[in-house]
Amino acid sequence: MRVILLGPPGAGKGTQAQRLVEHHGIPQLSTGDMLREAVANRTEIGLKAQAVMDAGQLVSDEIVIGIVADRIDRDDARKGFILDGFPRTVAQAAALDTMLAERSLRIDAVLEFQVDEGRLVERIEKRARETAEAGLPVRKDDTPEVFKRRLGEFRQLTAAVSPFYRAKGLLREIDGMASVEAVTAQIESVLGERVGA
Ligand code: AMP
Repeated sequence: MRVILLGPPGAGKGTQAQRLVEHHGIPQLSTGDMLREAVANRTEIGLKAQAVMDAGQLVSDEIVIGIVADRIDRDDARKGFILDGFPRTVAQAAALDTMLAERSLRIDAVLEFQVDEGRLVERIEKRARETAEAGLPVRKDDTPEVFKRRLGEFRQLTAAVSPFYRAKGLLREIDGMASVEAVTAQIESVLGERVGA
């Protein structure tokens, strides 16, 4: 099963991706996590991406397309994967199409998390607070100021990804404001209909 989670930052994609990993035994491919790891390891990609990420802007299509292409070829992704935070531009979506076609693979469903944008800042603040309380490092871009920039990038560039998948008949809307359990239930119901259809 190959699924894309689409939605603004703070919509709950990461939380649901982890649940899908547990239920379906396929990996979560989060470009944000991969880029943060590259930054932490001070790789060439990490050094290029760091300032852009800290400012809440999008890293270049070329960089993220490259890391996803490498990642989907790893053994653990053979049976499927959950893409979280990719594609974020139409160019990334088109590149993903080509990448999958070259491997005779296809996406089963694109889940679009619908959220009340006014409440996302609250969610981000909560995430930063809980992370700090757990003694873990807080993301530099989880501040209200940078978050607004990230939301701006979403509206300007990522919102156009939904029509791309709607035109292919793959887009399914999920109410992202429901409880974590209820969102998971919606997702499982949609996947039950789609996969193998
Ligand atoms: P995330 O963890 O998905 O919120 O991503 C954190 C940051 O990583 C974003 O604000 C971007 O700077 C960068 N990033 C993650 N995924 C992508 C992507 N698909 N395209 C461009 N930049 C990305």
